[in-house]
Amino acid sequence: MKFLIWALLAYLVYRMFAGKTAQKITKQEPAAAETFQDPVCGVYIAEADAVVGRMEGERYHFCSMDCLKKFEEMQQRQ
Ligand SMILES: [Zn+2]
Repeated sequence: MKFLIWALLAYLVYRMFAGKTAQKITKQEPAAAETFQDPVCGVYIAEADAVVGRMEGERYHFCSMDCLKKFEEMQQRQ
């Protein structure tokens, strides 16, 4: 659990810095603070467009339901 707390703190600090530079980032380079990488196909998605899946208490963001289903299948095989 301690690792999770440190990870959250690091994320919050990162967001503070990312927020200051976000305005300089163009549309081709999505701001890391506002986008999530699809773990299946590697595409970056804005949270508003993402399909959010919950697996074992973690939130995952997918570009589509297809990737969500693929990810669930991958998890079940492990
Ligand atoms: Zn995808």
